[in-house]
Amino acid sequence: MSTESTTGPSPRTTVRRGKNRAEYDQEHIRSILAAGVVAHVGVTTDDGPIVLPMAYGVRGEEILIHGAVANAMMKAGRTLDVCLTMTIVDGLVIARTPFHNSMNYRSVVVRGIATAIDDPADKMAALKVINDHVAPLWDTARAPSESDYRKTLVLSVPLTEASAKVRGEGPIDEDIDMEGPHWAGVVPLTSTWGEPEPAADLRGTPAVPNAVTALAGTIAHQP
Ligand SMILES: Cc1cc2nc3c(=O)[nH]c(=O)nc-3n(C[C@H](O)[C@H](O)[C@H](O)COP(=O)(O)OP(=O)(O)OC[C@H]3O[C@@H](n4cnc5c(N)ncnc54)[C@H](O)[C@@H]3O)c2cc1C
Repeated sequence: MSTESTTGPSPRTTVRRGKNRAEYDQEHIRSILAAGVVAHVGVTTDDGPIVLPMAYGVRGEEILIHGAVANAMMKAGRTLDVCLTMTIVDGLVIARTPFHNSMNYRSVVVRGIATAIDDPADKMAALKVINDHVAPLWDTARAPSESDYRKTLVLSVPLTEASAKVRGEGPIDEDIDMEGPHWAGVVPLTSTWGEPEPAADLRGTPAVPNAVTALAGTIAHQP
């Protein structure tokens, strides 16, 4: 599938505040999504709005999410108006006054209609994409059972109405504070995967999958 940018921002995904930090290029948005692990998916339900953290995967020009059919969000319908947000915090920005403290970050907001994937082959392929987003284990692990498959709803959200915002700089202080006594700077934040810990009930001596070994020490899920 094409990775060319298909659209610019829509009126509602045009960043107004901090527009110098906005990115709409599909490649850039995809690279941020590739580095993340969890998306927060917001939807309006009969109970009111709910935002749930979820795993996700990116395939072509769609972002894929899945959940139990009984999950509050999935129960809301098979066609949902959603807002999906993914955030990576890269650092704490300490200014000379706390009012100007900030964070360095890469964030993506995707707005659109999520639709259920019903075609069995496509649904299975989508489940693999979501599973393999962090560690490609789908092809070497036990395949899902018929019941796992039936209990899971997979939704596709088009990546066309999306924006990214990126901050990657030091504090922005006021002139009156520049000669003052207060420290200012950035405290970087990096998340890395640790050494794999075998399950307490692991039987025999199965080898640690290469996809798992490869994670240790890497940043987020990037190899
Ligand atoms: C880690 C982190 C912490 C933040 N903390 C604060 C905070 O404490 N207070 C605060 O006011 N803001 C904070 N922000 C910024 C916040 O996400 C919004 O960008 C900002 O508040 C402007 O909101 P708005 O509704 O006025 O944006 P507008 O510019 O009016 O938003 C219009 C459209 O721009 C896009 N957009 C807006 N924000 C983002 C984003 N972050 N990423 C991708 N697309 C976006 C969306 O498509 C949105 O529909 C934080 C951001 C991050 C990533």
